[in-house]
Amino acid sequence: MRNRIARRLDRVSPSGIRKFFDLISSMEGVISLGVGEPDFATPWHITEAAIHSLGQGYTMYTSNSGMLELRREIASYLKATYNLDYDPNTELLITNGVSEGVDLAVRAILDPGDEVIMPDPCYVSYPSCVLFADGVPVHVATNSDNEFKLRAADVEARITDRTKAILIGYPANPTGAVMEMADLADIADVARRHNLLVISDEIYNLLVYEIEPTCFACLPEMKEGTILLGGFSKFYAMTGWRIGYAAASADIIAAMTRIHQYTALCAPIMGQVAAIEALRAGEEEARRMLEEYDRRRRVIVKGLNDIGLSCFEPRGAFYAFPSVTATGLSSEAFAEKLLRQEKVAVVPGSAFGECGEGHVRCCYATSLSNIEEAVTRMARFVKKHRRA
Ligand code: PLP
Repeated sequence: MRNRIARRLDRVSPSGIRKFFDLISSMEGVISLGVGEPDFATPWHITEAAIHSLGQGYTMYTSNSGMLELRREIASYLKATYNLDYDPNTELLITNGVSEGVDLAVRAILDPGDEVIMPDPCYVSYPSCVLFADGVPVHVATNSDNEFKLRAADVEARITDRTKAILIGYPANPTGAVMEMADLADIADVARRHNLLVISDEIYNLLVYEIEPTCFACLPEMKEGTILLGGFSKFYAMTGWRIGYAAASADIIAAMTRIHQYTALCAPIMGQVAAIEALRAGEEEARRMLEEYDRRRRVIVKGLNDIGLSCFEPRGAFYAFPSVTATGLSSEAFAEKLLRQEKVAVVPGSAFGECGEGHVRCCYATSLSNIEEAVTRMARFVKKHRRA
């Protein structure tokens, strides 16, 4: 049979990150700064709440929208943290992580050919989900001179009559960049003037250092036009539980739920129970993890700069994004040679878009001793490959 696989998939190449991890899994003694997930196990009381619920028979489907109890907890959290009011009955949807949230958001709002503006580099799912939804990703270049912030004027310059939305995620993967409320207000101004929706991936919202958490929907008149995507994977070290949420106006949540009910049915019940416990009692332990990330952040950023890989100070998430141009290697060649010669895994910046070229992503969600050893090995590598 010809064309067994849909042509739509040709538009999306396999994730550059995954390709790299396949290589790592075949090697021993590798220090990985590759995978973007906490090295901590989920706090025990959260896991215990889920185990207990399984014993109580919580093993079935939940409502398509997710457990009302969890939606109420999320509504209270958004009210307490950002003074935002979302109706748990109509304006919140529990998703299988923010991953599903991004997919549902773009599928709910895009008609074929509609354009979505996003920063370059950006999280690998953004352009792929837009392409799967028959939309067109429009990349706006960002760079280290501006600490990888998205400039409102650059966004405005890319708007056409097909632009439907702006998709952002700050703090950012892969750069660790943040946009403070004043920066975001400029983007909001563009969105408002051009009547665009904003999809705001806020999975790292609480993983910030020395700055206040931000929330796009808090900006004046932006709640109605924002699809806020939040999650539990990073702050509470719950990547495997697969729980996230979307908060938006009722028409958008209804549209997203219509897709979710046929494709996912609901998010896993044990993850939902765990998320309730995380919101009720998880903050203290999560803050301890945050303090540890901050210690590691300082060590890695100083270490990278000291060895000649210039790196701006990331103030969110758990990524450093140093330039590797001092070596004259492309980011892919740097990552591949570093892995083979020194057994340190980093991700080529080019996996996240053209503007990621010349950089590599180093995830510092690993022990301080691993970070120190990785920097020692990288120093040796850089010395050997320094451009003459
Ligand atoms: N958004 C960003 C920016 C991410 O970095 C990730 C995971 O790395 C996700 C979303 C996926 O999160 P989840 O585990 O909630 O699906």
